[in-house]
Amino acid sequence: MSENTQTAPATNTPSGYGWCAWHQNYARGVRLVQVIEQGSNGNGSLFACRPCRDVYDLVPLADQP
Ligand SMILES: [Zn+2]
Repeated sequence: MSENTQTAPATNTPSGYGWCAWHQNYARGVRLVQVIEQGSNGNGSLFACRPCRDVYDLVPLADQP
């Protein structure tokens, strides 16, 4: 099975190169994710890359109901 880096055909899911707040580095295909933190700064919006979204079960804002 061959897997290259170009897995996502750009359709209606906006993504891009940016800072992933979960693994603390730049990554491709980051999406805006809403984070609800208790006890710190309250709610916020951070970007997460696809692997981190899988690991942490994050749902991009655009995909939420
Ligand atoms: Zn990440």
